[in-house]
Amino acid sequence: MMRRTKIVATLGPATDNPDTIAEIIKNGVDVVRLNFSHGKPDEHRRRAELIRHHARLLKRTVGILGDLQGPKIRITRFKSGKITLQKNDKFTLDASLGDDEGTEKHVGLTYKNLPNEVSPGNVFVLDDGRIVLEVTAIEGHKIQTQTVVGGELSNNKGINLRGGGLSAPAITEKDENDIRLAADIDVDYLAVSFPRNAKDINHARQLLRTAGSSAAIMAKIERAEALECIDEILEASDAIMVARGDLGVEIGDPELPAVQKMLIEKTRQANKVVLTATQMMESMITNPMPTRAEVFDVANAVIDGTDAVMLSAETASGAYPARAIEAMGRICLSAEKSKDVQRSRHRIDTEFKHIDESIGMATMYTANHLRVKAIAAMTESGSTPLWMSRISSGIPIYALTQHKKTRHLVTLYRGVCPIPFKPIQEDMNDAIRDIISLLINEGVITGPEDRIIITRGNLMGVGGGTSTMIIIRVGDWMLEEAIETKS
Ligand code: PGA
Ligand code: MN
Repeated sequence: MMRRTKIVATLGPATDNPDTIAEIIKNGVDVVRLNFSHGKPDEHRRRAELIRHHARLLKRTVGILGDLQGPKIRITRFKSGKITLQKNDKFTLDASLGDDEGTEKHVGLTYKNLPNEVSPGNVFVLDDGRIVLEVTAIEGHKIQTQTVVGGELSNNKGINLRGGGLSAPAITEKDENDIRLAADIDVDYLAVSFPRNAKDINHARQLLRTAGSSAAIMAKIERAEALECIDEILEASDAIMVARGDLGVEIGDPELPAVQKMLIEKTRQANKVVLTATQMMESMITNPMPTRAEVFDVANAVIDGTDAVMLSAETASGAYPARAIEAMGRICLSAEKSKDVQRSRHRIDTEFKHIDESIGMATMYTANHLRVKAIAAMTESGSTPLWMSRISSGIPIYALTQHKKTRHLVTLYRGVCPIPFKPIQEDMNDAIRDIISLLINEGVITGPEDRIIITRGNLMGVGGGTSTMIIIRVGDWMLEEAIETKS
């Protein structure tokens, strides 16, 4: 059985060797993330090269997601590397302090405008929620705080404002350089961190296009204000990430499960792609197997309908990168057996606007109600497989395309498997036989009674042009002996 939910793995020091790269590809990684928050440009280039080289050797399609750092606000460094704060301790965040001057009393900030944007009573959450500070006073460049939740605080930890509202624009100077790097590496997706609204997304898209890249844009939902204008962000983006790490810190972790479900549902309704991220298999950074809670978390994201699930430190710096992918794959596959995720009431009472959308919906409706083995979508831009994959189903969707870019794009679409396929020059009947042979080789078609659905356009080479759906009983097209010898 083919796994439908896609796995995204962050690359890092733990995957920086050919054997591990080969192993994570074999274990089923669909997309790798280059995290521009860490590492040098040349490291990212090398990682992309290594992945492409081994994907080619193993005849697999692996997408590449470049992830911008964005305006993540951090404290700077301590003279002693780290300090400990006790409840009620006074502590100053000082925008004018040198980067290595931190002590038990104060520390510097990467975002110099922070003191102008907060007021007494505001709450800061540091290090993904481990430390909580309440603002008591603002004095010039200094923010005076009192410790609400204490603990150890070390260099360069992140700071979030509870409830959001900081004005820092989503694209920093570093991000502009990284956008050029992403274009140069030729990533398939670019993730924009901390967007506030659709404008931030449009700005990133414009910079990316200027840099010569046609990559899809993923909005990371990790600010409270992004939730307030989620509809316009969805409209402006190709995909979103439920960035549970920073989002949980801003809105409070109890809100996360409901928000995750809402975001997945809304994104699929909007015909966009959704990736669920952060701490999915966190304990596997150090342990060879996940906790029960992690098993449930991954399975629940699958049941919620996410396209993909992501690994961060588990693969980038963990002790078991390949095992984490393998374990995640097993959990997804098993969760996908649930009847609820194989049937759909999606779009049951909406009006369709596009011809390819209608063909996609008709195909999925038919596939879910007539016993078919597979759907083969002959596609240029990948738009029909995207429509199709918004519908829950247990039937595999093969995206057959001559375009490498399209094959890479669909690596993130739930239930869609990319396959290279030459465009039909003359006879559609030949193409149908080619598709049947291909699905026999994939092990999907096993006998003459098997049915498949093929979709295609009449104008080859035109994206969004799918206009035809053909239902095929394999035995009508190929002799039984031929099916058997091939399979
Ligand atoms: P990050 O984003 O890993 O770049 O912080 C994901 C998140 O915040 O959940
Ligand atoms: Mn984040």
